Amino acid sequence: MILGIFVIYIFIKMINLILFGKPGSGKGTQAEFVKNKYDLIHISTGDVFRYNISKKTDLGLLAKSYMEKGDLVPDNVTIKMLEAEVNKSPNANGFIFDGFPRTTLQAEILDEFLLSNELSITMTIALEVDENILIERLIKRGKDSGRVDDQDRSKIENRFDEYNKKTSILINYYKSQNKFFQIDGTGGISEISERIYNVIDSNI
Ligand code: AMP
Repeated sequence: MILGIFVIYIFIKMINLILFGKPGSGKGTQAEFVKNKYDLIHISTGDVFRYNISKKTDLGLLAKSYMEKGDLVPDNVTIKMLEAEVNKSPNANGFIFDGFPRTTLQAEILDEFLLSNELSITMTIALEVDENILIERLIKRGKDSGRVDDQDRSKIENRFDEYNKKTSILINYYKSQNKFFQIDGTGGISEISERIYNVIDSNI
């Protein structure tokens, strides 16, 4: 009985968010604000891959060839990496998943993995931005950061194609669980953060 109450408490207390959206929609920027406000662990699969590429690890070498073309890294590699990242923070108040899941298999395995740890996704928040604005943002980010996959229009378009073919179907996956929320991802950074906080505060 006491254990049951404790498990229910953990389910209620933890906030596990997915920030969803096309490349350049502002997931990484907003995840940092949300992480600080709600004291969550931010996991960006893209950042973990980039870190591994910079350290020339086996994972980095494998991911590099896919990322440079704007293709998704294979599911088995990405899922294993994500699970390892979650397992690094057993005492977290919750997680923000940024750039994960990107395929149905990733979403299904994420649900199973969280459930096996008596956790679940609280909500998915999508940042809606028009593709023409995204292309401008990404090209600018490519110039500022040197990110190879942001510098070339055909690579950016390939990333949008990957999103449209493999990732956008997750909208229905989370809608069917009543966990999908959409906000306007244009405007000032703090304005967008406020929209995200409103969604979180009204639905937890
Ligand atoms: P991001 O920083 O989220 O834009 O991701 C940059 C690149 O990393 C993507 O274009 C993919 O090549 C790879 N990547 C990041 N997250 C995933 C994921 N969940 N599944 C497969 N590939 C990923």
